Amino acid sequence: MKKNGILTTVQSGKILVSDGAWGTFFQKKGLKPGECPELWCLEKSAEVLDVARSYIEAGADMIESNSFGGTRFKLEHYGLGDRVAEINESAARISRQAAGPNKWVIASIGPTGKMLVAGEVTEDELYAAFKEQATALAKGGADALCIETMSGADEAAIAIRAARENTGCEVICTFTFQLGAKGYRTMMGLSPAKAAEAAVEAGAHIIGPNCGNGIEQMIDIVKEMKAAAPPTPILVHANAGLPRNVNGVDVFPENPGQMAARVKAVVDAGASIVGGCCGTTPAHIQAIRLAVDELGG
Ligand SMILES: [Zn+2]
Repeated sequence: MKKNGILTTVQSGKILVSDGAWGTFFQKKGLKPGECPELWCLEKSAEVLDVARSYIEAGADMIESNSFGGTRFKLEHYGLGDRVAEINESAARISRQAAGPNKWVIASIGPTGKMLVAGEVTEDELYAAFKEQATALAKGGADALCIETMSGADEAAIAIRAARENTGCEVICTFTFQLGAKGYRTMMGLSPAKAAEAAVEAGAHIIGPNCGNGIEQMIDIVKEMKAAAPPTPILVHANAGLPRNVNGVDVFPENPGQMAARVKAVVDAGASIVGGCCGTTPAHIQAIRLAVDELGG
């Protein structure tokens, strides 16, 4: 499979499968509330490798890495500000080990949690933090960087630029939308069209939506992003629906069959890569794999 980059492969018309949830998988493996998931890259690397391998075995063409909260701003919260490079390099290396030479590693980069508009951080500080993380992920063997769960155009653009200017990795950028009175918007009020335009302008190779409220809503979001940036391939990482908290545990309503049943509609809407976000499991990815194979993808 992996003779080329992801971009070239999807541009040739191939539909690819991405992986599923990491955070909710770690919770099942015993991650405690308040514990730093990314520290598991160093202290419980066998568990992290097991998550990565599960998705490869389920048929994913690409896997993420345990580095969603791997910026300095997030790791400092746990007193791990001096271990940013070590943690991220290890995260990418573990996924590389699971992916082998024939599958892609799309290493995860999440939001910093700092608001530019509120003056909590400067653009230079954000850029430096994303550069530090992206560089370490590339060093650990990432093929692509997956900047995800973004809500602000400014933070996304800075992360994309930091990734493009400091690594040779392909750059993916996904945003999280909720349906409100004005349609789909990110937490910062960005529409799918505006998000798509901002990400492409900053240099993203691949864009899309992630997280959110189930795969059904992804269909319209993909259409809106595609219409705003027709040549740019789209990746979808859909939640298994909106979680309900049952006795302190998040329960996700969409089973693998329900998600797989919407794969064709998501692809018809314009997506080239389909995977899962919160609440999805290797069983979901296996079902999505079968659905994509049935498309002849
Ligand atoms: Zn999610």
